[in-house]
Amino acid sequence: MYINGQWVDARLGETKNIINPFNQEVICTVPRGNRADANDAIVAARKAFDHGEWRNVNAIERGDLLYRVAQKIKEHKQELAELETLNTGKTLLESLADMDGIAGVFQYYAGLADKDGGMMIESPNPNSVSRVVREPVGVCSLIAPWNYPLLQASWKLAPALAAGNTVVLKPAEITPLTSIKIFEIFDEIGFPPGVVNLVLGPGSTVGAELAESLLVDLVSFTGGGEAGRSIMIGAANNFKKISMELGGKNPNIVFADADFTTAVDYAVNAVFFHAGQVCSAGARLLVESSIHDRFVEAVVEKVKHIKMGNGFDPDTQMGPVISAEHLANVERYIKLGVEEGATLVLGGKRPTDPALQKGFFIEPTIFINCHTSMRIVQEESFGPVLTVETFDTEEEAIHLANDSVYGLAGAVWTRDINRAERVVKQLRMGTTWINDYHPYFPQAPWGGYKQSGIGRELSHVGLEEYTEIKHIYMNTKPEPMNWFGQVQPKANEVV
Ligand code: NAD
Repeated sequence: MYINGQWVDARLGETKNIINPFNQEVICTVPRGNRADANDAIVAARKAFDHGEWRNVNAIERGDLLYRVAQKIKEHKQELAELETLNTGKTLLESLADMDGIAGVFQYYAGLADKDGGMMIESPNPNSVSRVVREPVGVCSLIAPWNYPLLQASWKLAPALAAGNTVVLKPAEITPLTSIKIFEIFDEIGFPPGVVNLVLGPGSTVGAELAESLLVDLVSFTGGGEAGRSIMIGAANNFKKISMELGGKNPNIVFADADFTTAVDYAVNAVFFHAGQVCSAGARLLVESSIHDRFVEAVVEKVKHIKMGNGFDPDTQMGPVISAEHLANVERYIKLGVEEGATLVLGGKRPTDPALQKGFFIEPTIFINCHTSMRIVQEESFGPVLTVETFDTEEEAIHLANDSVYGLAGAVWTRDINRAERVVKQLRMGTTWINDYHPYFPQAPWGGYKQSGIGRELSHVGLEEYTEIKHIYMNTKPEPMNWFGQVQPKANEVV
């Protein structure tokens, strides 16, 4: 763990084995912190924010530091990507792409750090100057999930530091490796002590302390709804600012006039990429009835050939899911889908290939005859599971797509651009794609409507989340206003 510029073990000396989900081998052992360790990091961040030299590091210099982080990530891209694949099981190709994205996020916020010089505003008093500036919020708790360990952390670290905050990062307990590596990079670059802190450990202790501590000003969380709720409650004690990136159960709507082959290709990628462990995964396929059978047949044919395996093998297209616990969760949802009456047309079980027996593998799974009344359609299995629904009209497609507590992302496939516009306008989601699926980049905001979140990450909006707004008003001609009448001060009281 990295606290106040030092590498430290957990106070109680506890450790945790980090497991490779491809073969269950122990990759390494890391410290397992608790509330006291989290508090150490928070106190260091508080001190650095309130009294440290960080206060005098201006926005131009902060941008420069972040630019150097981006450069180092590029230099260490291969090593970082290998660590991510080792820890998550995702293919090396995906991890390499993640690292490009992460360097891009640091580079983007490096550029943005000094761009907001505030603004002058009109004041009703002609003898005054009024301006609005943005200032850092203070100490920020950053809590990240396991599916995109460093990517999700970078979406928080880069804007928080660009804005001048101090931070405590807690990665998911099972995927800390790339976070440790980036703190080595921070250390090498030389952020002042206490500005960047890393605490490892469970959500129920370290995470809870980060949410509840009265010394923390903001909590930014990415993860599931259950933890999100608990964090909001914890953060309520001193009314911390909060930012929440939560789950999604995202519709991918295909109209009969769509480019068939491309829509099939993307429908597969939308959900099976990273074994479905993507908050924006297109896990709900909505197909116009007239092409349903043909479309499903083509999707099944493609999915049948997805090659599962070791993320380091260049032939591998899909890795395992993250853990035994998560595998059991995905299997529970598959069983539930069958019980609810959905028709299983592919997968649904663990693969029989002897080479995959030690890993947390589950076959890519497809259900048809699905309805919004089913839990398999409404809830996140967060695994390689696709449900297929049908619709007959544009109105029905929109209604079905929005019939969800979530509102993270959604896509529409059609050659009719007017229809595409009409549909996306009515989708209650933070990101919508027309004839595409999955693109995201630092310049565009990311986040959810409804129970998919609060606030936005990425883009200039993602930076603003980490700022307070201050109005500075200066009276250029101060003189008594005599609101309470004119009382002449006595001669010896004149100031
Ligand atoms: P999770 O909620 O179990 O854990 C996320 C993080 O919160 C971890 O670091 C965990 O240790 C911590 N945590 C857990 N309980 C906590 C508590 N009570 N107090 C404080 N911290 C706590 O989520 P996960 O299983 O790691 O990730 C999967 C979930 O994340 C899915 O629901 C997925 O949709 C969501 N997600 C959302 C986005 C997005 O951008 N909207 C991106 C990635 C993942």
